[in-house]
Amino acid sequence: MDPNQKLVNSAIEQLRGRWPGAQDSVAAAAVALEDGQILTSVSFDNFNAAATLCAEAGAVAAAYSLGKRVVASACVTNGTEEGTYQVLAPCGICQERLAVWGPDVLAAVPVTAGKSTWEMLPLRALNPYYWATSFTADAQWPSVAEHGE
Ligand SMILES: [Zn+2]
Repeated sequence: MDPNQKLVNSAIEQLRGRWPGAQDSVAAAAVALEDGQILTSVSFDNFNAAATLCAEAGAVAAAYSLGKRVVASACVTNGTEEGTYQVLAPCGICQERLAVWGPDVLAAVPVTAGKSTWEMLPLRALNPYYWATSFTADAQWPSVAEHGE
């Protein structure tokens, strides 16, 4: 199976496992690590909206805790018709989280909003004017080490 399809399937499995039959606005994500491992997590909702977390946050934090490089990410939510899903592009904050591992991290993005068609694009395509390049000596994306400094 295509590794990117496997990644999206892992996010769907996480979504369906955590909230079977749900049709409200919940999401799940999966990240692929450099060694092929896939980590998943779900959106964290809270009555206080300031305490919520995107679906990617848990998996990204787990990867970082393991000291492993994320190479791809996918986030899904339920589709408009029962049993369907749609891919969500990473929000700006999640793009920042994924940027720790550089501009070549792949992210699943919808081809047509609201549909289950998607493609993988590198972060550099999602964010061609990445702000942090203004603060590196070579005007390139900061390295993992520079992100942690
Ligand atoms: Zn996000």
